[in-house]
Amino acid sequence: MEVKRLKQVAKDNQKSLVNFLRDIVRIPSLSGQEEKVALRVKEEMEKAGFDEVFTDGIGNVIGRIGSGKVRILYDAHMDTVDIGDRKNWKHDPFGAEYKSGTIYGRGACDDKAGVASAVYGGKLMAALGLKGDYTLYVACSVEEESAGGKGIEYLIEENRLKPHFVVLAEPSSLNIIRGHKGKVGLKISMRGKSAHAGTPWRGINAIYRMAPLIQKIERLNNRLPSAPPLGKGTITVTKIDCEKASLNAIPDNCTIYLDRRTNTKESEQSVKRELRALMGKGGKLEILQKFFTAWELPREHPLVISCVETYKVLFKRNPKIFLWPFCSNGSYTMGEKGIPTIVFGPGEERFAHSADEQVKVEQLVQAAMFYAVLPGIIVKRYRKT
Ligand SMILES: [Zn+2]
Repeated sequence: MEVKRLKQVAKDNQKSLVNFLRDIVRIPSLSGQEEKVALRVKEEMEKAGFDEVFTDGIGNVIGRIGSGKVRILYDAHMDTVDIGDRKNWKHDPFGAEYKSGTIYGRGACDDKAGVASAVYGGKLMAALGLKGDYTLYVACSVEEESAGGKGIEYLIEENRLKPHFVVLAEPSSLNIIRGHKGKVGLKISMRGKSAHAGTPWRGINAIYRMAPLIQKIERLNNRLPSAPPLGKGTITVTKIDCEKASLNAIPDNCTIYLDRRTNTKESEQSVKRELRALMGKGGKLEILQKFFTAWELPREHPLVISCVETYKVLFKRNPKIFLWPFCSNGSYTMGEKGIPTIVFGPGEERFAHSADEQVKVEQLVQAAMFYAVLPGIIVKRYRKT
């Protein structure tokens, strides 16, 4: 594969790549409402020269290239978070403004940039006739933001893609992310006894019952065990609530919400055990969503090495390799299923979910080239192992 020619073809495709991303940014796609954007993505994939394009039972759009032995899955999610307060946006969140090499709008970075670059990775492969002993699936998935991986779970379980390797096209500033912390949301409720606020001795104040536990949780955060390479987990109280509380009555209930980030040594069981020990007999502990597992792929894993090699071939320098404090579909692919996974994509992490969401076109094009070259390099490595 000649890098010079790839760069030329990428350059020739830049305009249509930009148009594609702007089109899909203009189509709002909250989790569970991806149908319209999925149609547009499918249309682009069909034009791109994939061997097969299909929509699965849950609404993921999948394009296949090749039918070789090594199965590689690229995943980028089509759903976005909401825009929040419109007043905070300098650019129309659905205007897809394009100014001096940057595209603005909700999803421009997380994760429609990943969708656009992954689809164009496939398009470049088709245009250049890149082939090898691999089957590449480019999946544009649903419900990453809300259901935490419902789309990817369906892709792997129901479509039986059985990938050997997964690349998550999420905004990583074109750095290679070889693992990240896990997370779980929890809530703890305490009951009390209501009474008139003027005769507090007649009631049991649920907030006062909760207060010592909150302080214990704050202290717990400082003594959570560290496990390399991800280091210490964290625990934070993020919200406190008394349901149907009157401002002149003793509250008979109090609920706190917790955000817990975990390392690879921590599990759902260990997190629950730790909190129950602090709670003693009082209170009720519940998990809010599923438990997202922390994971790490060794620095010397063939997938990491293939990514480094691809990066060097294209950009003539060494990539940065990091672990993330954020969570992604990798909690499912690598954390639960043990499929070697890395995150690599256009767009900067700090713009994800922000009111200033944006992506540089230069990164879109570079990511597309990376996605086009990586499968061939993985296959070479795979043969050696
Ligand atoms: Zn994302």
